[in-house]
Amino acid sequence: MKYVGAHVSIAGGVENAPLNAAAIGARGFAMFTKNQRQWQSPPLKEESIAAFRENCRLHHFSPQSILPHDGYLINLGQPDDGKLEQSRRAFVDEMQRCRQLGLLYLNFHPGSYLHEIPLEDCLKRIAESVRIAVAEVDGVKAVIENTAGQGTNVGFAFEQLARLIELIDRPGRVGVCLDTCHAFAAGYDLSTEDGYEKVMAEFDRLIGFELLCGMHLNDAKGKLGSHLDRHDSLGHGVLGKRAFELIMQDPRIDEIPLVLETINPDLWPEEIKFLIAAENLKK
Ligand SMILES: [Zn+2]
Ligand SMILES: [Zn+2]
Repeated sequence: MKYVGAHVSIAGGVENAPLNAAAIGARGFAMFTKNQRQWQSPPLKEESIAAFRENCRLHHFSPQSILPHDGYLINLGQPDDGKLEQSRRAFVDEMQRCRQLGLLYLNFHPGSYLHEIPLEDCLKRIAESVRIAVAEVDGVKAVIENTAGQGTNVGFAFEQLARLIELIDRPGRVGVCLDTCHAFAAGYDLSTEDGYEKVMAEFDRLIGFELLCGMHLNDAKGKLGSHLDRHDSLGHGVLGKRAFELIMQDPRIDEIPLVLETINPDLWPEEIKFLIAAENLKK
């Protein structure tokens, strides 16, 4: 089974995330574990952690079906040493939060070189950041998300992700999350059956499906190779619905969270229904 869901709100406390996911008919979900636009957040309260675990149990969300996302301020490839240290501390804190909640993954954007250092140096900084985090916190995998390559964001090419994984060199502690909008914007054409097969074969060759811990299912507003990180609702953008049917019918993509980050939460119940129907078509 594929754990289809959406990136749901934690307003009022992390314990509300599984309730929000259940309310839209989700089988999995993504969430932040703190305010994603602030460096500092108070630690998770014991009651909040217990309620989160209980709500997940009640609604049958296993840790495998949940893909927490890190905050937007963190840049693990930051060229400035002082700021890099701040990002590394924040990332370790996020990993600890995941651990406290009994979660297995932390999905993050690799980082940005900010025109100050070469891309390879940025990858090395990111790799060292991840090595520090997984050494400090047990049991949580660092899940690298492919980017659209907007601005100076690295990690848009599969080769860059493969290089990062090689530099991190911690087998079993690293995974990958594939965002369909970012991939399309980075030039990977998932819109047709032929294109889909080629892209996924390349993903398998360079990275491997065994490292795939989750996907973000988003249509794209920007055209192929535009490097624009602009999500759209499924079937409303230039990527189109076919890609999502192909994903739902792909046996290589199973038992992982498939998360909507589409722009209209009102459509999430419908989008989830469409995806589950596509999965069932195969049977
Ligand atoms: Zn993301
Ligand atoms: Zn994403």
